Amino acid sequence: MAGTATIETTTNGPRGKAASQFLQGGPKKLLIGGRWVAAASGKTFETVNPATEEVLALAAEADKLDVDEAVKAARKAFEDGKWPRMSPHQRTRTLLKIAEAIDAHAEELAELETLDNGKAISEAKNIDIPAAAEAFRYYAGWATKIYGETNPSSPSMFNYTLREPVGVCGQIIPWNFPLLMAAWKIAPALACGNTVVLKPAEQTPLTALRLGELICEAGLPEGVVNILTGFGPSAGGALAAHPGVDKVAFTGSTEVGREILKASAGNLKRLSLELGGKSPNIIFADADMSAAARISMLGIFMTQGQVCAAGSRIFVQRAAYDEFGEKLAALASGLKLGNPLEADTKMGPVVSREQYERVLGYIGHGAREGAKVKTGGEPASLGRGYFIKPTVFVGVRNDMKIAREEIFGPVAALLPFENEDDAVFQGNDNDYGLAAAVWTRDISRAHTVARRLKAGTVWINCYGLIDPISPFGGYKQSGFGRELGRHSIDLYTQVKSVFVKL
Ligand code: ADP
Repeated sequence: MAGTATIETTTNGPRGKAASQFLQGGPKKLLIGGRWVAAASGKTFETVNPATEEVLALAAEADKLDVDEAVKAARKAFEDGKWPRMSPHQRTRTLLKIAEAIDAHAEELAELETLDNGKAISEAKNIDIPAAAEAFRYYAGWATKIYGETNPSSPSMFNYTLREPVGVCGQIIPWNFPLLMAAWKIAPALACGNTVVLKPAEQTPLTALRLGELICEAGLPEGVVNILTGFGPSAGGALAAHPGVDKVAFTGSTEVGREILKASAGNLKRLSLELGGKSPNIIFADADMSAAARISMLGIFMTQGQVCAAGSRIFVQRAAYDEFGEKLAALASGLKLGNPLEADTKMGPVVSREQYERVLGYIGHGAREGAKVKTGGEPASLGRGYFIKPTVFVGVRNDMKIAREEIFGPVAALLPFENEDDAVFQGNDNDYGLAAAVWTRDISRAHTVARRLKAGTVWINCYGLIDPISPFGGYKQSGFGRELGRHSIDLYTQVKSVFVKL
């Protein structure tokens, strides 16, 4: 092993006043029809700080009865309420208010995100929270730009299309970017005039609930956004299967995506699925090696590797393989791992005990399969919390479990390749197809490889850039449907053709 990550002692850390106030106010409630209510069953569950294993707050545990109520409220708001019929300019103003409220509460939201998820506060502050505000701002602009078309019918007819909202949208999101995923889902749905029932992940309910408060304060009519905290199979399953829901948008694992697909079949819901990945990050020997190593390191270790588009299979051309391995391991082992509330921490804990055990299980498997741990490969013993050292495996083959399956943790697999065909073949030889990257100074090869890779996003000489202007989603078992850009507008509208006899 080439060194050990710098480790800081974990403390509970400072808490801003606003975040502490939010955490102190008793069990968190569900947002249904504009009111904050306890679950019908009265049940609650604990949300835990993964850095300290302490309970942060209790959240209401929604089940089928609460889903029924929330869907009823969303249906009423859609059929009778003013939101779908509101002037698009007014919808723009409301979405902009939400964006401004996120900006105004950025410190508090970042702190809540870090406490609940474990990601470094610098990431929450610089990425998650501003990007969530940006998504609302971006889709605020779209509300006034959703056009129909006029079509060349016969001279005695006039044909035009209307783009109308889909209706009640059930949105189920994961724990890795809790507020950002809520924004990606809620903002375009609202821009198009839909109503929403959102279910955040049970591991990280806090920022979605705080967003719910900010949304209410921004003056959104009651019932337009409903938020249900609860578990996957019960609350999420009931939402995916509910006959009163017109569309389901899901981000999460491929395994659960399959369940959602089945559950949504009853009333043929429109469905978009953004699922797992095992993205190839391909580095040719002519690439700028220090940039490639630095950015690839972020591409796999950001948010402790719990990113669906993480560059978890790093393919390096054989001539540069050893050099790159040294560079990556040195960078990884220098990352400061520790209390995620500290400004200079680069890596916090993984999100939960379950995830911690799962990731360590994969690391053990990798070693047993014959891959070699270049750095990391073990928990960081800080006394408490789910900390795992950033891990780089070398000598990995593409048929090993650690190269085939999504680990969703801080584990990079380094694989050698010979030439362009080999890189493309190995890169594509996986069930997933969410993202990929290619590093080379040869412009023609960069674009050719980008075309040949079966992935929804390809980065050339960079990694991980996501911007609301550009679509995001998967090929193969990484899902279907594209979010962001104009594509979310397609997901959240349906087209009506109108014929007029002249
Ligand atoms: P991860 O593997 O990242 O934990 P999951 O796919 O398990 O992601 O969870 C993503 C979201 O899906 C969470 O909100 C979770 O509660 C929800 N979920 C899990 N199982 C189901 C299910 N059977 N039906 C609907 N939603 C589910």
